[in-house]
Amino acid sequence: MHCRPGCGACCIAPSISSPIPGMPHGKPAGIPCVQLRDDDRCALFGDPSRPAVCRGLRPTPSMCGSGRGAALAGLAELERLTRPD
Ligand code: SF4
Ligand code: SF4
Repeated sequence: MHCRPGCGACCIAPSISSPIPGMPHGKPAGIPCVQLRDDDRCALFGDPSRPAVCRGLRPTPSMCGSGRGAALAGLAELERLTRPD
């Protein structure tokens, strides 16, 4: 499947522990990445500085759900279930 235009859920809901240009300590869950553009595309797409975790992420029906709201909710729940504490 392809990434849904105007979504950006996986750049908002999950935490990212590796450094991101502009977010040297990574990204907290629920906070939009500073590299997420207004059109919900990644400003670093194709750039070597894009984090490996982002480069490796592929859209899947289970992650992307039926729409942006479903993806945000599902990713937030996954984040809660996988939190170390
Ligand atoms: S959750 Fe899926 S559809 Fe939404 S931005 Fe991420 S990859 Fe694209
Ligand atoms: S670097 Fe790009 S793909 Fe990764 S979280 Fe930020 S906006 Fe999303």
